[in-house]
Amino acid sequence: MSERYSRQALFKPIGENGQKKLLNKHVLIIGCGALGSANAENLVRSGVGELTIVDRDYVELSNLQRQQLYTEEDVRHQLPKAVAAKKRLLEINSEVMIHAHVLDVTPDSLLPLLKGIDMVIDSTDNFETRFILNDLLQREELPWVFGSCVGSTGMSFTILPNETPCLQCLLNSIPVSGATCDSVGIISPAVQMVVAHQTTEVIKLLVGDKKALRSKLVTFDLWNNHYHMMNVARAKKQECPTCGKNPSYPNLQYESSTKTDILCGRNTVQIRKPQKPNLDELANRLRNIAPIKYNEFLLSIEYKSYRLVFFQDGRTLVHGTDSIEKAKSIYNQLAG
Ligand SMILES: [Zn+2]
Repeated sequence: MSERYSRQALFKPIGENGQKKLLNKHVLIIGCGALGSANAENLVRSGVGELTIVDRDYVELSNLQRQQLYTEEDVRHQLPKAVAAKKRLLEINSEVMIHAHVLDVTPDSLLPLLKGIDMVIDSTDNFETRFILNDLLQREELPWVFGSCVGSTGMSFTILPNETPCLQCLLNSIPVSGATCDSVGIISPAVQMVVAHQTTEVIKLLVGDKKALRSKLVTFDLWNNHYHMMNVARAKKQECPTCGKNPSYPNLQYESSTKTDILCGRNTVQIRKPQKPNLDELANRLRNIAPIKYNEFLLSIEYKSYRLVFFQDGRTLVHGTDSIEKAKSIYNQLAG
């Protein structure tokens, strides 16, 4: 056994056997912001053999306070988070395999990535994506660990298809306030606390110590000194549309036409087109209109009081407005 993992293998519940198991596991991390960065770093240092990371965003200065894989240089180069994360993770442990995907999570985009995956970590920042995960992972019978944090609070729950309640069943037990890091802020220890729960549950499952799983929903508020474990076993519902007897998976219906989302609290609208753009061609055209930044992953332009960022997967972020109409109009002026 490699010296690198000796202290972890000494820990009895893992042992040399558990360590060998970890080396043969493949974990998918959805979202590589604060939770995703910290979970990914933990798993890579722990010697989980293969990691797939998915993120739709790029690194900005306001991320550095809590998103531990990123640097000022990543901000300067406007690197997509998945790409910057992979680079840093391989510096930490060159023996693991990392797959990075810059994409928006939809049922269609996620399904191919589930092949060969042992389990999934939810590190997204929104419930829309979590409910897609909830349906898809229930249908594909993959275990996953839900986690979220905002302000000084956080929560986590481990979801085992056919055993535990799913996220839909828990709706009445979890506070979904709509508050986001972009509206009420966040302190990094809240991130680390959620991640401590998530990574530990993942390692328990990967080494096969199922009886050590927590089974309860954990919620906490670090600033106000609350820590709570809620028994939610009875929340599992027979008629649940996701994990019940006749599931309809309501969050997997997805239309492939143009879709727009207001990114809550960020003064940003995301426009998603079904077709992929030719960024070279777009760069040549936009260069004459306003200053652009262009790397192999994305193209950004400062135009009037807006900043538009075009991604290769057909998404565009329009920063500087909360209005879908205004965003579409600016988008059409430049790329329509
Ligand atoms: Zn359910």
